[in-house]
Amino acid sequence: MKRPALFVVAAAAISTCSQQPPERQIIADAANALGGRSRILAVKTLVIEGEGTNGNLGQDMTMDAASQQFVVTGYRRSVDIVNLRARTEQTRTPNFAYFQGPQPQKQVLGVDGDVAYNVAPSGTATRASNAVAKDRRAELYHHPLEIVRAALDPAAKLTSPRTAGREQVVDITTANGLAFTLAIDATTKLPTWVVSATDNTNLGDVLIETAFDDYQDLNGLKVPRHFTTKTDKYRTAELRVTKQAIDGDVGDLTAPQAATSAPAIAGPAPATVTAEELAKGIWFLAGQTHHSVLVEFADHLTLIEAPQNDTRALAVIAKARSLRPEKPLTEVVNTHHHFDHSGGIRAAIAEGLTVITHKANEAFYKDAATRPHTIAPDALAKSPKPLKLVAVDEELALKDSGMTVNLYHVAGNPHADTLLMAHFPRERILVEVDAFTPGSAVQPYAANLRENISRRALKVDRIVPLHGAIAPYSELLKIQ
Ligand SMILES: [Zn+2]
Repeated sequence: MKRPALFVVAAAAISTCSQQPPERQIIADAANALGGRSRILAVKTLVIEGEGTNGNLGQDMTMDAASQQFVVTGYRRSVDIVNLRARTEQTRTPNFAYFQGPQPQKQVLGVDGDVAYNVAPSGTATRASNAVAKDRRAELYHHPLEIVRAALDPAAKLTSPRTAGREQVVDITTANGLAFTLAIDATTKLPTWVVSATDNTNLGDVLIETAFDDYQDLNGLKVPRHFTTKTDKYRTAELRVTKQAIDGDVGDLTAPQAATSAPAIAGPAPATVTAEELAKGIWFLAGQTHHSVLVEFADHLTLIEAPQNDTRALAVIAKARSLRPEKPLTEVVNTHHHFDHSGGIRAAIAEGLTVITHKANEAFYKDAATRPHTIAPDALAKSPKPLKLVAVDEELALKDSGMTVNLYHVAGNPHADTLLMAHFPRERILVEVDAFTPGSAVQPYAANLRENISRRALKVDRIVPLHGAIAPYSELLKIQ
């Protein structure tokens, strides 16, 4: 694995008078502080119970907002340290207007070797992608006992011992080839955090950091009672341990047969893009879960939405160009910053499109356009281009002799502060996403959409949603 530049903290060599090389000394000190090498190597299983919170990375009101959280109860993580298996069960309850409704959701998330899986409340297990499996395998080592145990293996590579503030830091490549950085407290020698790098479609190379504190004595070992996890600079989880056990019964942690027998998921499914002409010069580009709309102007084309990832966005862009090959596709309107709707923005930039988005996204997209994607290079990493961005405040008219489309901020919507809708006044079509999803049983954001339409006195016959099927305006009016 190429190590991202961020991974290497400016280092000061540690001077030591011990006989061990300094990188081994850090691990030996950590092992002693935790209860001793042989005690650590004897541990077979770990069960952690507790409660806490999960963040809503990439789906909050703005990119930097942190008001939306899931309250986590009934957390139980069972780990087979020897065989690298883990299963986490938890119930999460949104403290915000969640698109699936306010009820608590039970989650079962597991990993067994190269297979990651989720179990639905119905008991049905499904295989998760290889990328998820890789992250969950790395997560196994985001615990002091597991990372130090792995570092004690003579086949582990220990490098770059250094002092950073009140901590001693060392890079570890485990015997099975995974890379981590571990910090220990310079005084107590107890592990304070572990970091590993992964790819995030929207953010590129990111560091996932788990911090440990509030250690307790347990069966001759010291284990933390407080875990805080960040992805990049965003806090994604916090856990307070209420009960934990070493070498207790963890039950059967092998992956369910439905998951192990399912084919591995190496990447996004191939994109299928359908095209339906809704009115002269307006096409609905659908086919899977996230739709787009193509708009024809006198001398250029404008796409509304480059969603999900390179696979979807590039397929939609290719379809748009094939519908009107004589006109250049020059710009993309982004409905909001949520990761599933902005995951194709970098592909659009690579294709030379100008990004039109709410002004609250400007700083985030400027950053996103230049972030390194070295772990899983995407279209923009392979073909770098500068970001061209047009920021929308309350409204922006896109208009020429042949076409008018007005972009409006969907103000005050509890789904996102950055939400734009597109209105075609002549065709009386409204393009929106997430505020109203026709057919969905839960519609927590629809009343606000209606208010926005009324306040601007927009004439609408058809709603063209970027999730779900096209619906008459009367369907929105029926929502309570
Ligand atoms: Zn959204």
